[in-house]
Amino acid sequence: MAGDPPPSPGAEAGSRLVGVLGHAQAQAAVVRALGRGQLHHALVLVGPRGVGKATFARGLGCALLCPQRPGLGCGACPTCQRVLAGNHPDVDWLVPDGKAGLISVDAARACHVRQTHAPYEGRAYLVVVDPADALGEAAGNALLKTIEEPRPGVHFALLTTNLQGVLPTILSRSLPVRLGRLDDDIVRGIVHARAADAPPERHDMAVLLAEGSAGVALELASDPSLARSLELVKQAITAVRAGPPAIFGGDNHPLWQAWAVATAPSEAVPEDSPAEAEPEVPGAKKKKTSKKAAKAGDDGDKPASKKDAPALQRAAVRRLVELWILHVREQLRGRPGLPGLPPPSAVAPGTLVAAITALQRLGARVERMGNVRLMLEQGLLEQSALLSGT
Ligand SMILES: [Zn+2]
Repeated sequence: MAGDPPPSPGAEAGSRLVGVLGHAQAQAAVVRALGRGQLHHALVLVGPRGVGKATFARGLGCALLCPQRPGLGCGACPTCQRVLAGNHPDVDWLVPDGKAGLISVDAARACHVRQTHAPYEGRAYLVVVDPADALGEAAGNALLKTIEEPRPGVHFALLTTNLQGVLPTILSRSLPVRLGRLDDDIVRGIVHARAADAPPERHDMAVLLAEGSAGVALELASDPSLARSLELVKQAITAVRAGPPAIFGGDNHPLWQAWAVATAPSEAVPEDSPAEAEPEVPGAKKKKTSKKAAKAGDDGDKPASKKDAPALQRAAVRRLVELWILHVREQLRGRPGLPGLPPPSAVAPGTLVAAITALQRLGARVERMGNVRLMLEQGLLEQSALLSGT
């Protein structure tokens, strides 16, 4: 990747859709087909979360509607601006509005009716279904007629992370366009541009963890709990290298202090203020923690709210395992590992692989068993034993 030219807005100006980064092949194919007037009327944009499927659909909208640069879009004219802002009458976003996150039959029927008069202002009309998995049988059938026999100028962009989630009747009439993971350089550029407020050291981490998803990287870059999790991994690695006396060093040991911070309810951790940036822990009830509860950190590592404690502890171990495995994997590839974590000690690749396996076991155990801290202590002992070869 290092040898590749950096992605710049002017890089492939001949074939780039407005706002779309990466996905060179998919873009070129779509632009070529548009130029020949042979674009398939129903595209299924399939790719992992956060790689820019909706951005691609907006770029397609500009290409279809822009009067300045027909077939490509200029990004600057009033038409493109409205497409990008999501308020052009010829781009119809069909999104979940019904029960269980599905697109309602009513919305699908209304969309069908709108198409019978389309286009309204431009030369084309684009229906974006986001996500296509949210089309149930009935709503899908309401759209199927227009996908089967589209009116001239009517296009579909169906977005999905998973082709199997799309109704077979719709899929069989569509052309899949694959949008793969983005290069780290592109993700880094997006994070720098759109998460400029986040601390710079968190940028690199977010890019590494996101594995080619700009959306995931942006979430991580603005997630204050990431720093707390990293501190816990750092202290865990340090303790593992020091051996059992450190692992059982008690609540005042840096390891268990980091544990207390990483497992505290968000209200009890003042360092990174905005509470709304804190992700919901699955299964943990969101409730106001009283000042009294927030002080409970005084007596050891007992988190503030007893009800939330196991869920928070499980989430902390989950994150710890995830980051630690990533750190070791980087080391296996001959890299220094995650930024801010202790660099690798000289151990054989076989030991690193065994360490990953043991970490995966730890991750599985804490999901099933009650005493999370006990599980963690055992997991750390195991890592320590692996390192010392005992
Ligand atoms: Zn334009």
